[in-house]
Amino acid sequence: MDEKKTLHMTPDDFRRYGRAVVDWIADYYERVESLPVLSPVKPGQIRALLPPEPPLQGEPFEKILEDMNRVVLPGITHWQSPNFFAFFPANASGPSILGDLLSSGLGVQGMLWSTSPACTEVETHVLDWTADMMGLPGKFKSTGSGGGVIQDSASSASLCALLAGRERATKFMSNEKGCDGRLVAYASTQTHSSVEKAVKIAGLGRQNLRLVDVDEKFALRPNLLREQIQKDRQSGLVPCYVCATIGTTSSNAIDPLPEIGKVCRQEGIWLHVDGAMLGTAAVCPEYRYLQEGIEYADSYCFNPHKWMFTNFDCDCFFVAERAALIHTLSILPEYLRNQATESGAVIDYRDWHIPLGRRFRSLKLWLVIRHYGVEGLRYLVRRHVEWAQKFARWVQEDKRFELAVPPPMNLVCFRHVGGDEVNQKIMDRLNLSGKVYLTHTKLKDRLTLRLCVGQTHTEERHVIQAWRLIQETADGVSKS
Ligand SMILES: *Cc1c(COP(=O)(O)O)cnc(C)c1O
Repeated sequence: MDEKKTLHMTPDDFRRYGRAVVDWIADYYERVESLPVLSPVKPGQIRALLPPEPPLQGEPFEKILEDMNRVVLPGITHWQSPNFFAFFPANASGPSILGDLLSSGLGVQGMLWSTSPACTEVETHVLDWTADMMGLPGKFKSTGSGGGVIQDSASSASLCALLAGRERATKFMSNEKGCDGRLVAYASTQTHSSVEKAVKIAGLGRQNLRLVDVDEKFALRPNLLREQIQKDRQSGLVPCYVCATIGTTSSNAIDPLPEIGKVCRQEGIWLHVDGAMLGTAAVCPEYRYLQEGIEYADSYCFNPHKWMFTNFDCDCFFVAERAALIHTLSILPEYLRNQATESGAVIDYRDWHIPLGRRFRSLKLWLVIRHYGVEGLRYLVRRHVEWAQKFARWVQEDKRFELAVPPPMNLVCFRHVGGDEVNQKIMDRLNLSGKVYLTHTKLKDRLTLRLCVGQTHTEERHVIQAWRLIQETADGVSKS
């Protein structure tokens, strides 16, 4: 090895290759629409393109970038394609990518205020902005009794909320002694699977998760919740957590927060509200009815990394009483002691989530909000909802299809009237075509197609094309 030559990338090379990477990404966005949305590769196909051993000597950057095209791209399902209508979106956008790059560039580990004050203070401020922007109650702001923090995912947020609810219900003794098998959590049959995972991780046990039945719109039935809680109390159990959802993953159902909230308030149970995808709609004042009753919540989360044009990972988690969360999660080994923390004048976000370390994630959200402005975000959300509603009307007007449930916002659940097998074939053929990607769910035991309009780059023409492809594919399936 040449002793005089640095092994590191020099600032000049970084500029050169950095530009090449930005160009690569910009080119990708220019052509992503033409790529097959769902990756067609077979298991193992990508690995087979990689050398069995890591390189002993460093390789030229050009060669690495070439492999992005040769090795990586074929194995990408294009979440950033405007023809992506599957699951819920995982949006990226120019300002968000650049915000993430700046975060990488600074390479900050923001576990404590003192390990980079800006990392904490920008985050606190941006989350207060976000609370205002979404019309959330003042108690969720750092200027009130609560505050917001960016978590990696809604799954983590639900887990942290459960832990805080568990501790509050046991006067912070579960942290000391462990769970005694009497703690109970509640959600609906439609609640995201992350809540079941949280119940397992938090030591409640899956048997102590009550999945309450739903109404014809797949929303939790609050009277059943109340009955179940009373029954559990009579059996000597300790209800500690209710998770309600704004926009379930399966069908975008909206749980009745005012009724659920009243039950939780009366019973002294922690209410967590999960608005992972649909929560973004509240940026528009006319859609805030979706979160009516949010004032009853002890915690709330939504994912800008789904519908708000911010790269994964970015979940905004708000608590009404930060003291409960901090008391639940704080640890203070000697090596983390510092004056700022002791003074009590600062936030140390390591006490607000599971990991100790944290990236400067608020930069990407900050850039998104500043680039689009609140009005820009509203404009985009409104158009997505408008197009989804149009799509739903087309479904209704075509005798071969039906809506599985009236679509509340930007997710349309629909099916061909020919039954499960026909719907499965339609979906498989559509996805195999590479021109569009949508996924399914089961509602009342029937296979149901889901089309979610929310991808950053989706335009009306993409929704029109998706519907045309669905109709043509249905014709083809009927004939075969
Ligand atoms: C997507 C989703 C989640 C999980 O989101 P992650 O951020 O990936 O953990 C949780 N709840 C609902 C309602 C979702 O739609």
